[in-house]
Amino acid sequence: MDKFDLIVIGSGAGMHIVSSSIGEGMRLALVERGPLGGTCLNNGCIPSKILIYPADVIRAIQASKSIGVDASITGIDFPRIMKRMRSVVESGRKKLERSIESEKKSLCTEVVQSSPITIH
Ligand SMILES: Cc1cc2nc3c(=O)[nH]c(=O)nc-3n(C[C@H](O)[C@H](O)[C@H](O)COP(=O)(O)OP(=O)(O)OC[C@H]3O[C@@H](n4cnc5c(N)ncnc54)[C@H](O)[C@@H]3O)c2cc1C
Repeated sequence: MDKFDLIVIGSGAGMHIVSSSIGEGMRLALVERGPLGGTCLNNGCIPSKILIYPADVIRAIQASKSIGVDASITGIDFPRIMKRMRSVVESGRKKLERSIESEKKSLCTEVVQSSPITIH
């Protein structure tokens, strides 16, 4: 049976615990059943803001005449908007994956990503 000093379940806000425990000499397990980064990175704050921003720009252009700016929208490249969102999410996830990989190698903290596990 594997033994750990600290088990963090979930890599959303749980990553803060992981980060602050690194270098403390603890054997640490990070358990994640989904993509690294949790809701905020993968489905929440970050992707939603990346989609909301172009919508805000569209609304601002539509309302611009009322403030004396004559602008118009000639096209909306929705696939490009989605592609940008996915690329930002993916690069955030890769950054987390890389940081976990480097912690595994260089510090006395061991981070394992596995699921399912039984905690005794
Ligand atoms: C569309 C949307 C927009 C949002 N925008 C904002 C915003 O602008 N600002 C803001 O502050 N908040 C925002 N939020 C809320 C924010 O995403 C959450 O408050 C935050 O992600 C919660 O963090 P958490 O670590 O508690 O949970 P999560 O980020 O959900 O992390 C939990 C992790 O635990 C894993 N997990 C759960 N159970 C198990 C298990 N039994 N075994 C293994 N792994 C498990 C999950 O896979 C997940 O990765 C938004 C949420 C949504 C949905």
